[in-house]
Amino acid sequence: MQQITANVYVETAWVSGSSVLASSNSSFIVTSAGIVMIDAPMEPVNALKWRDIIDQKGELLYLVNTEFHSDHTMGNHFFPVPVIAHEKTKKWFESVCGPPQDARQKVLDRYPDSGPLIEDYQLRSPSITFDENLTLHLGDHAIELIHLPGHTPGQTCVHVPNERVVFTGDNFTNALQPSLSECLPLEWLASIDRLLDLDVDAFVPGHGEVGDKKAVREFAAFLGHCVETVGEAIEKGMEKAEAVETIEFEGVLIARHPGRAWQRKNVARLYDMLSAPA
Ligand SMILES: [Zn+2]
Repeated sequence: MQQITANVYVETAWVSGSSVLASSNSSFIVTSAGIVMIDAPMEPVNALKWRDIIDQKGELLYLVNTEFHSDHTMGNHFFPVPVIAHEKTKKWFESVCGPPQDARQKVLDRYPDSGPLIEDYQLRSPSITFDENLTLHLGDHAIELIHLPGHTPGQTCVHVPNERVVFTGDNFTNALQPSLSECLPLEWLASIDRLLDLDVDAFVPGHGEVGDKKAVREFAAFLGHCVETVGEAIEKGMEKAEAVETIEFEGVLIARHPGRAWQRKNVARLYDMLSAPA
């Protein structure tokens, strides 16, 4: 765990199963009124470690999910406080997670040794939702949740002006290609511009090391390249089937989900979104 400002703590290197990339980053902000967490560690044993660390710093008040993907939300179970997310995140969360009785099995499929830690596992869906913005006023801290669609439609960033920090979720993954398979590409580029307009020093990504504006600009250039490449293919009249077979971005930026199948999904999504009538 790193302490990146007076009151902000971040873990960017969870070792989950065989891959350090399996969980999203986890963070929390300590205020004089209590603690706000951003995204939950995915693996049960890590979630319990994180809970112990937080308990030593104060009382946990809220957990914010920046998106619905399970690497940000599967660990919600271990933090019995209100979960806050964008209303679209709550909707998607429930539609992709399936029936509650399957939730424990999904954790077991991924972490077969975790059985004793999840006897009473519950999928904890957001209980507080918002549309555009929501600000938590805690002691001297204003913690601003801002809807910035991109990596997913309900994507949320958390801006903490006092600490000069923004938590970007997977709208920014440092030196790493995230999934593009549920993205809104043009909104995403606009959302990154809004992130870059914030007066902050630290950008805590959804995955990878904490970055600065330069790292975010490099990520934006990567995303711009993806959008431009698929956009040009559409303009030239290339069929979707050909695009997904011939275009790939793993040669440009290392992928969190390696392999052809994910590249096909990423290109297919960009093709659909960029060729849809406005
Ligand atoms: Zn994600």
